[in-house]
Amino acid sequence: MSRLDVFIDRMVSQRACIDFAVQATSHLSGPVFELGLGNGRTYDHIREVVSGRDIFVFEREVASNPASTPPEDRVLLGDVRETLPAALARFGATASIIHADLGGHNLERNDQFARAISPAIEPLLAVGGLMVSSDCMYFEALTEIEIPENAVAGRCFIYRKD
Ligand code: SAM
Repeated sequence: MSRLDVFIDRMVSQRACIDFAVQATSHLSGPVFELGLGNGRTYDHIREVVSGRDIFVFEREVASNPASTPPEDRVLLGDVRETLPAALARFGATASIIHADLGGHNLERNDQFARAISPAIEPLLAVGGLMVSSDCMYFEALTEIEIPENAVAGRCFIYRKD
């Protein structure tokens, strides 16, 4: 499997899992958190498919395509290891969706980082909320659920707070 194949699977899976999460949480009004703005592609998709919910973006350095750059007051600028705990103080357990795409090319480092930030993500989710991630996460009380049929196993993960 080429890197191009892996990339395509990741993109297809991100879209499928985001679309699924938006539908499955449509009864919730809490904010949507996008962790890792990058180029802004998934942010752009989220804002297209989410309505009636605030979207906040967590990013250490905004360098997105100008067409998909969030308003300044919707960006929590800084390292997520600091901004996630600050968000808990500000928002409490209210997020309807948390989407994370924070990884780089080093898979081992991505896994270590996912382990490190899982405890800071978990308390932000509202009951019934979904966490969608490109990396396997390490939660104590969230339940991993099946990804939609059109997503590729191992390329995206979904966790629910019951
Ligand atoms: N989903 C994005 C898109 O569709 O364009 C791509 C996200 S990109 C793979 C990962 C982003 O996470 C980068 O912009 C990087 O700066 C950000 N990031 C990585 N580690 C971070 C950290 N510790 N705190 C805040 N942002 C971080």
